[in-house]
Amino acid sequence: APDYIRAIMAYQPGKPISELAREMGIPEESIVKLASNENPLGMSARARDAAIAAIGEVSRYPDGGAFALKKALCERFGVKPEQLVIGNGSNDILELASQAFLAPGLSAVYSRHAFAVYPLATNARGARGIEVAAKNFGHDLDAMAAAIEPQTRVVFIANPNNPTGTFVPGAELEAFLAKVPRHVLVVLDEAYTEYLAPEQRYDSIAWLARFPNLLVSRTFSKAYGLAGLRVGYGIAHPEVADLMNRVRQPFNVSSVALAAAEAALGDDEFLARSAELNRRGMTQLVAAFRELGLEWIPSAGNFVTFKVGDAIGVNQALLRQGVIVRPIAAYGMPHWLRVSIGLPEENARFIEALRQALA
Ligand code: PMP
Repeated sequence: APDYIRAIMAYQPGKPISELAREMGIPEESIVKLASNENPLGMSARARDAAIAAIGEVSRYPDGGAFALKKALCERFGVKPEQLVIGNGSNDILELASQAFLAPGLSAVYSRHAFAVYPLATNARGARGIEVAAKNFGHDLDAMAAAIEPQTRVVFIANPNNPTGTFVPGAELEAFLAKVPRHVLVVLDEAYTEYLAPEQRYDSIAWLARFPNLLVSRTFSKAYGLAGLRVGYGIAHPEVADLMNRVRQPFNVSSVALAAAEAALGDDEFLARSAELNRRGMTQLVAAFRELGLEWIPSAGNFVTFKVGDAIGVNQALLRQGVIVRPIAAYGMPHWLRVSIGLPEENARFIEALRQALA
């Protein structure tokens, strides 16, 4: 393998709940997992029905052109099918962007404390990653624009960002896009966009008319509750989408996933419930951090990152009480933990366990 492949550090997934339960000697049902920014409501009933119906057809290959899901996305967002790329999770969209636009000798710009897949996708192409210092744990767009060099072909921006939950207002993103050279693809990763408060929302898809070098990446894994099925989508200029579709595996998304995603997209009621539950959970967690005297980073996502000092010790103490959160040392934040927002009772279990862990 090339040296740039050998140098890659694999993404570290969490342990399965069953394995953790065994290690900790506690029943699996009593475990509260708030580690992967999943939807605590599960999936919408409509998506479940569609997935179950689609199971009957799995002897056939899926529709590699994702005709029905693309049609639904086009109606929803007022775009054309040739502007769309459907991915096996939005990780696939990030990966396809790097496959289409990066190579040895080229570079990608991303922020420190940004999503772990950006350096992975960059390094896997043998391209160079330019990590820009963060500003208040979030993206410093001025510094990122300044970091673009002649070899740069991709800039990754997560808005909101994982693991910090930081958010850049739409007007600042627009100003950034206006500064970036047209041969540099700006990957705007909006995995958590459905959780934004009404006053934070902005219309990135409308920007495509002015910025043909923009790729908006979204997912069905978070607010739509389909993380295990793996569906994401990219919206871009037709030429960008075409290049990405050339390197995409012909049947990268399963038929069950396509059917569930299409149904989920139409379930606005479920989306609204997810966002509302998240808003309440955020209030609940923030109140607890305040009461416990802990520092936290205000988050626009479905998770929040808080400072405990001894993150390894506190994480262990939480685990012993059956509560799984995410240590983020790998993101350069060794004193912080990230907790996903759960159901009210799950949040309460986490808060109580945290109180014990800190006592
Ligand atoms: N982008 C960000 C910022 C994320 O946090 C995640 C999931 N952790 C993803 C993309 C990828 O999610 P998925 O592949 O499930 O769509």
